[in-house]
Amino acid sequence: MKEKKSTILLIYTGGTIGMVKDYETGSLKAFDFNDLLNKIPELNQLDCTIKTVSFETPIDSSDMNIEHWLKIASIIEDNYDSNDGFVVLHGSDTMSYTSSALSFLLENLAKPVIFTGSQLPIGDLRTDAKENLITSIQIAALKEKGKPVVQEVGLYFEYKLYRANCTTKINAEHFEAFASLNYPPLVESGVHLKVYKENLLKQKPSKKFFVHKKMDNNIAILKLFPGLSIQIVKSVLETPGLRAIILETYGAGNVFTEEWFLNLLKKAKKNNILIINITQCSGGGVIMGQYETSRALKDMQVISGKDITLEAATAKLMYMLGSEVSLKSFKTIFETSLRGELR
Ligand code: ASP
Repeated sequence: MKEKKSTILLIYTGGTIGMVKDYETGSLKAFDFNDLLNKIPELNQLDCTIKTVSFETPIDSSDMNIEHWLKIASIIEDNYDSNDGFVVLHGSDTMSYTSSALSFLLENLAKPVIFTGSQLPIGDLRTDAKENLITSIQIAALKEKGKPVVQEVGLYFEYKLYRANCTTKINAEHFEAFASLNYPPLVESGVHLKVYKENLLKQKPSKKFFVHKKMDNNIAILKLFPGLSIQIVKSVLETPGLRAIILETYGAGNVFTEEWFLNLLKKAKKNNILIINITQCSGGGVIMGQYETSRALKDMQVISGKDITLEAATAKLMYMLGSEVSLKSFKTIFETSLRGELR
C-alpha cells in the first residue's frame, strides 16, 4: 500500500539561500520569500504538500540570537500536529548553533526538523540551493509504516544529512561547508537516498513532545592560546552575572599549569561558576587526567564536554541554565547525552 503523502512546513529565516545582490552596494541582502518559491518550480513536482512560513524580516544568520531560536521553536510547536516534518532555511554561518539549540529546546521530538541553506543564492546559475532544499524536503517527507524515518534535528548540506548538534561549519568557500567529525552521517544522497538507520536517534513513542521556552546567555567562552594573559582570564571570570564558562582547551582537554590560572579557576568554582572543558580540536574529545596538564581540572571536578562541539556545548549550556538545573546535578546531566550530542 502506498504511504500517505507527507505535509512539510518550510520555515524561512533568511541566509544566502534567499538573498539577492544589491546593485548599489554590491552586498547580498535578503529578499521576499515568495520569490524563493517562484525560483524553484521543481518544488511543485515533489510528492508532498509544502506549506511555508517566513520570518517577517529574514536575517543573515550572523544576526541570530536566543529570541530567534525560541521563535523557530514556537513555530514548530504551533504547527507540530498539522505537519509531518519541518525544513528550516537558515544561513550557514550560525546554522550549527541554531540547529543545536533547537535540538535541546524540542524535547521528545518525533518528527524531522531539517536545517539547510546554501553557499550561493538560489538565483545563481551554479547554486547549491536547489539540491539542498529539494533533498531536505524529501528527507523530511520520508516515512516508514506511517511514521517519520528521521525523528530528530538534522542538518543537510551537500549530499549529507548530519545530526545537527554534531556539526560545525568548516568552510566558507566550498559547497561542502559542514562536517560532523565525531558522528557519522544519518543519510547520504546519491542516486538513491541511503538512510543509515543505525545512526538515527531512537525516540520513545510514549514520551510527549515538549518545547522549552527559556535559555540563559550568562556564559562565556574562553579559548586558550599560548600567552593568554592573567588580566584577560581574570576579567572574563569576574564578569558580573557570569554563571558558566566554556574553556576551549588543547588536545584531550589540556591546559597550562601555571598557578595563577588554576587559582583563578578554583576561585570561580568557589563562586559557583560552572566550568566546562571542551577541546579546540575539530575531532576527538576531552579525557581529563590522561595528561598531567589536565589532572588539576579533573581534581577540581570540572565538567567534561567529552566530544561535544563548541556549538552544541554553547546551546546545551544556555538550555540547561535556562531550565534551572541544580548545581548539584549539573555535571552529571551535562556529561550525559541528552539528544545524541556527545559520547
Ligand atoms: N552570511 C550568510 C548567513 O549565514 C551565509 C549563508 O547563508 O550561508 O546568513
